[in-house]
Amino acid sequence: GRALPPLAALSQVLRLERSRRTAIVFPLQKLERYLAPGTDTAPFRLFQPGLPALQRAETLFRSDRGHAIDYVSSAVRLNHAPPPALPEVCFIGRSNVGKSSLIRALFSLAPEVEVRVSKTPGHTKKMNFFKVGKYFTLVDMPGYGYRAPQDFVKMVEAYLQERHNLKRTFLLVDGIVGLQKTDHIAVDMLEEFGIPYVMVLTKIDRASRGLLLKNVLEIQEFVKESTQGCFPQLFLVSSVEFSGIHLLRCFVAHVTGNLPTVEAS
Ligand code: GDP
Repeated sequence: GRALPPLAALSQVLRLERSRRTAIVFPLQKLERYLAPGTDTAPFRLFQPGLPALQRAETLFRSDRGHAIDYVSSAVRLNHAPPPALPEVCFIGRSNVGKSSLIRALFSLAPEVEVRVSKTPGHTKKMNFFKVGKYFTLVDMPGYGYRAPQDFVKMVEAYLQERHNLKRTFLLVDGIVGLQKTDHIAVDMLEEFGIPYVMVLTKIDRASRGLLLKNVLEIQEFVKESTQGCFPQLFLVSSVEFSGIHLLRCFVAHVTGNLPTVEAS
């Protein structure tokens, strides 16, 4: 198989010195100390698992004999989707937000998994289903852009409204540019349907600390003031540096009911 990227496994992260380790595992927490005094830090540490929970989650994302992680199928319509037998999470976001890179990073301990990219213009956009053993399914939704074809919107709407095993939607937002008009279309859709979701800020390695802090605080404020269904804690990730990947795996394990107890770190 392919070589694993450095820091794909917690065991590699644990060898780093403390401050670097925190930056990789808890990138949001790393920003906390640059906040103005008096800022409400509660949304920074709602989900802050300890090492045992992180390790347990990692075993779900590591394939081995008796635990297969597989691409299952692609579907253009909900009735072509695999049966809704397992708890499910889905990932949505604008084209180019870093969705395939993120899913590849999440599955990096199962290098046999192919995360397909269908970017060819004019190509039918599909929902790609991945099965993680007997634990959960993960869906890679087609990226949206400002000329999202009507049938694409219909497909996503139908999926979000009718997929009863959907436990959480992960809405990816570019960490450099923050929330865009098209992201608000997705937010409005999720809010209208009353779907629980969480925002994930991507490509954080490319944003300066100041810019990242600005985007984080703006989005947190928006989430607090204008949303009902969005988890108040943002998840920050870099698929290049592997920051936030371990924590996100743990959150996926948690929301799919595969992590009965999450002890605080
Ligand atoms: P998708 O269209 O949402 O699937 O986006 P991709 O995963 O294909 O990423 C779009 C572009 O952003 C590619 O050039 C990636 O190499 C780049 N990219 C994705 N994730 C990251 C990241 O975490 N850090 C950096 N620096 N670049 C990224």
